[in-house]
Amino acid sequence: MENELNILTKKVRKFSEERDWTKFQNPKDLAIALILEASEVLEPFRFKSEFNKDELAKELADVLNILLRLADIVGIDLVYWFDKKLEENAAKYPIKTFYGVNMKYSEVSKRGFGTILVKNSEVNKNVALH
Ligand SMILES: [Mg+2]
Repeated sequence: MENELNILTKKVRKFSEERDWTKFQNPKDLAIALILEASEVLEPFRFKSEFNKDELAKELADVLNILLRLADIVGIDLVYWFDKKLEENAAKYPIKTFYGVNMKYSEVSKRGFGTILVKNSEVNKNVALH
């Protein structure tokens, strides 16, 4: 049974092949395109207090398109790596320490049970945990 991401990857590949664009697609240029498309995700929010959901959806779809194409041409299994990164992030951000805490793991070190230390802040402060 093929997963949905593989089906989308084949659609993106077919789209490129039908236009003979694959000769222009290399990892560096697709990485650049990915970041350019990602920056366009900001566009629906620019100078607005509300945003158009369809405009946002189109920009997110553009990002997914380039992401899938880049992963495809370099042979990266995004489903495998997504799961792997989620496991790594779960190890970096244990629920017990990070529940309701929006700091990067490198800024937080456990200091005894129930407290965390905020590094590199003007004043180190202990933050009580749940
Ligand atoms: Mg776009």
